[in-house]
Amino acid sequence: MSIAINAKQCVGCGKCSMVCPGSLIHMNADGKAFIKYPKDCWGCTSCLKECAVHAIRFYLGADMGGMGSLVHTEKEGDVLRWIIDHPDGKTSEIRIHTKQSNQY
Ligand code: SF4
Ligand code: SF4
Repeated sequence: MSIAINAKQCVGCGKCSMVCPGSLIHMNADGKAFIKYPKDCWGCTSCLKECAVHAIRFYLGADMGGMGSLVHTEKEGDVLRWIIDHPDGKTSEIRIHTKQSNQY
């Protein structure tokens, strides 16, 4: 599992670095985030959800049924959108209402 950070989109807020439970994300001399130990990422997705400019993509490998798809999140009010870009160019989306997702 791993993520990729688009340096062109990154605005250097540092939030992804602060939330990563493994301290895997660091800031480079240009003030951009990068993942120092990609193989150590266990896919908690915390960094995705913190990035307001959607600069972080999470790889959905074949072992997860993703076959190389990339996922990122976008917030829309109380709804968290999980947007999946598939290798064939198609996009799909899962919408989770954050205020209802913990109710059971
Ligand atoms: S997905 Fe989780 S473990 Fe991986 S880099 Fe992001 S915050 Fe760290
Ligand atoms: S949260 Fe996004 S914008 Fe902020 S440092 Fe991380 S990748 Fe860059």
